[in-house]
Amino acid sequence: MQFQLSEEQRLIQETARRIAKERVAPRAAEMDVSEEYPHDIFEAFREVGLLGLTIPEAYGGSGAGVFPLALAVEEIAKYCCASGLVLLLSALPTQPILIGGSEEQKQTWLPKSARGEAKGAFCLTEPNSGSDASALETRAVRDGDDYILNGEKMFISGGTVADFVVAFAKTGSDNGTRGISGFIVPTDSPGFSVAGTDRKMGVRGVPTANIVFKDVRVGPEQLIGGEEGHGFNHAMLTLNTLRPVVGARGVGLAEGAMTYALEFARERKAFGKPIAELQAIQFMFADMAIQIEAARLLVYQAAWLVDQGKHQRENAALLSIAKAFATEMAVKVSSDALQVLGAQGYMMDHPLERHYRDARQLMIVEGTSQIQRVVIARALLERELVYP
Ligand SMILES: Cc1cc2nc3c(=O)[nH]c(=O)nc-3n(C[C@H](O)[C@H](O)[C@H](O)COP(=O)(O)OP(=O)(O)OC[C@H]3O[C@@H](n4cnc5c(N)ncnc54)[C@H](O)[C@@H]3O)c2cc1C
Repeated sequence: MQFQLSEEQRLIQETARRIAKERVAPRAAEMDVSEEYPHDIFEAFREVGLLGLTIPEAYGGSGAGVFPLALAVEEIAKYCCASGLVLLLSALPTQPILIGGSEEQKQTWLPKSARGEAKGAFCLTEPNSGSDASALETRAVRDGDDYILNGEKMFISGGTVADFVVAFAKTGSDNGTRGISGFIVPTDSPGFSVAGTDRKMGVRGVPTANIVFKDVRVGPEQLIGGEEGHGFNHAMLTLNTLRPVVGARGVGLAEGAMTYALEFARERKAFGKPIAELQAIQFMFADMAIQIEAARLLVYQAAWLVDQGKHQRENAALLSIAKAFATEMAVKVSSDALQVLGAQGYMMDHPLERHYRDARQLMIVEGTSQIQRVVIARALLERELVYP
């Protein structure tokens, strides 16, 4: 076991760190207030080649992998969790295509995504289907060789700016997971519309969209993999693959929050000395560091597993442990960091209230904390997660 980055990984980390400081940090507070998607940040990622990290070289990406993506997202999230999501979204909608798409689908969509010429969104959640994704109600009904899509998707990150979406719909009469298929749908398809956006607590730089499919005609070449019934599997494997990257958003956010509070504590005086000299405050920082380091190792291990191709069910618990721990840690650390600033931490003059609001999103997306525990408990009971 070696705890050191390769030359390529270190370069990606340093590039992301530079972009985070130069381009992301100055925009973070502003996009939180404007609630507008940061096209300039996307452009910054494109310029330095961060958008194709998980896309193989054969399809125009760098093929670096999920671990390098996690490293980059961690750096970005130190200043802005929403911008970390912008980068994560370079992988979320391309991953189902990578996992299950035909050669033609890969050639059509992956190079464009890697070059930043097409933004995607991942459409799974619906008004009556969240954690229980198998209950989704969007339907794709055969019409000759084509399908006609009807349904509604909710909370879709990046849905307002997407050029294409990967949408999951029922194709079979079977109500279980085998009746679900994934489709690649360009957003200029007739019948596709964004019905609205949400007013939300955090991660406000990336609007979430309510998307409607009204008699959207899609050809058989848009069915992922060309065969019905694999959509649920593709969606779940995609979520498994990117759990470490959601965790990395939490790790980066927590590091940024702690670092900010530390500088504040060195300057702020109470009872005649800097509050950093109070042991109660020092112990808060020590606890933050313990939590962050533990989460980082879990996230790196999980990302490494994914890059070894071990993101199937037998390793799902380790991916879930990393996601649950890192995201819950981010909520705790950002809350404690805010506390160090006292009233100032509560004010929008400092980034800590934003970090705290943003952290809260992480416990909900891509499988809630409760769903991660369902996965972990199942693995323990079914002896998939064993301690010999
Ligand atoms: C900011 C934001 C961005 C998002 N972006 C996207 C996106 O891009 N694409 C997309 O498809 N979705 C997206 N989502 C939706 C997100 O994936 C869902 O919110 C999530 O899967 C949970 O579903 P739900 O909100 O319907 O909660 P529900 O499934 O209704 O759950 C409600 C509560 O019950 C708990 N619960 C449910 N089932 C169980 C169980 N079996 N055991 C224990 N507890 C359980 C949950 O943990 C939760 O606390 C986004 C959400 C947010 C907040």
